[in-house]
Amino acid sequence: MSMDAVRLVTPLPGPKAQALIARDHAVLSPSYTRGYPLVVQSGQGAIVEDVDGNRFLDFNAGIAVVATGHCHPRVVEAIQKQAARLIHMSGTDFYYENMIQLAETLARLAPGGGARRVYLGNSGTEAIEAALKLARHHTGRQQFLSFYGGFHGRTMGALSLTASKTIQKKGFAPFVPGVHHVSYANCYRCEFGKTPDKCNLECLKQIEDLVLKHIVPASEIAAVVVEPVQGEGGYLVPPQKFIDELQALAQRHGMLLIFDEIQSGMGRTGRMFAADHFGAAPDMITLAKGIASGLPLSATVTRAEIMDWKPGQHASTFGGNPVAVAASLATVELLEESLIANAAHIGAHIMDRIRDWPRRFPMVGDVRGLGLMIGVEFVKDQVTKERDPESRNRIETLAFERGLLVLGAGQNTLRLCPPLTLTKDQADFAVDTLEECLKVLVQPS
Ligand code: PLP
Repeated sequence: MSMDAVRLVTPLPGPKAQALIARDHAVLSPSYTRGYPLVVQSGQGAIVEDVDGNRFLDFNAGIAVVATGHCHPRVVEAIQKQAARLIHMSGTDFYYENMIQLAETLARLAPGGGARRVYLGNSGTEAIEAALKLARHHTGRQQFLSFYGGFHGRTMGALSLTASKTIQKKGFAPFVPGVHHVSYANCYRCEFGKTPDKCNLECLKQIEDLVLKHIVPASEIAAVVVEPVQGEGGYLVPPQKFIDELQALAQRHGMLLIFDEIQSGMGRTGRMFAADHFGAAPDMITLAKGIASGLPLSATVTRAEIMDWKPGQHASTFGGNPVAVAASLATVELLEESLIANAAHIGAHIMDRIRDWPRRFPMVGDVRGLGLMIGVEFVKDQVTKERDPESRNRIETLAFERGLLVLGAGQNTLRLCPPLTLTKDQADFAVDTLEECLKVLVQPS
């Protein structure tokens, strides 16, 4: 990484940033969570510059969104060309070619093979709403299973599935009835006291032994909605057998299996979809974050026969907007050309460098991940595994002060989700910087 790539020229926040933050606080929704005072002006690749001329290495990528890096020239060119030709037409009411092209592309890429149909929306939560409505419509069943720690969005249907942080639900009840939450595979802190080698999938047995026996008959569950790698829940990678058994359970009971790949999809894990790591073939997948490198777009991709609703039953004015679609087609091309392979390669390099952190740093309980979706869990005690959100939050601030942008996921996990363009030098800068921050925590000056 060139010497001036990361460059801090003012105290943080600088004077222009401070003035803008004051204006923001006076007028914008106070519901936003800002971890530290970064006011961004521009971005290129994995580097962003703030309004005072400070440059940072971005390990958030707009929360796993700018897969191709900030303002990738080919994405910018695709957006500019499309914006000059046609900005909006409403794919709900008319036809245009690039919308068809993107649907064909996603159908080709979808895990499991076979014919697929695609519904396009604008945000992750909309992709989930579409999946829920379609699952009810197709199966004639009304209820759902989803997982503790899961995050699926903030509109009422998606929020009803979400079981991440109670603040996200505080004051908004009642939710959509008929959603039943069950345990996710968090092997690092198995609530049944099992180590991964002794795992007998007690977390999933709860579904058959408790939920389906005491609460709801299987015949009323339309779908199981699951993140194949849990994102906001703390970047949790389940074991292969968790996914295998979940798939078998859904099949046994005629429930649809919906993979929410809004965060884990589009190359983030070093494969196009996290499902590909597990050889899984879900009935539906939902996509959003990385799909168009920052333009608002989402997709609900299903086995063709499932998408059996009729004209007028579901649509969205802006969904599949031609400019967002152009950005997406350019993004997919870049992912397939080199960026997925790069995510796998650089992700493995980072994991190699941080694997021994739990041995070297007492506050690191666990490191885990796939590709460039890596989580570092902070604990007060490596034996009791008591969560340590304060240390995690402190690392965010210490890293910011050193020119590295990272954010948390879940209660006590640091998430590393840089652009998939990340170079080895940039990865090394980030790991070196985080090690420096960890040493500050070990020996505060
Ligand atoms: N599903 C997952 C797995 C997510 O990570 C998110 C956002 O973080 C969503 C759904 C909701 O997406 P959006 O914020 O675009 O509505």
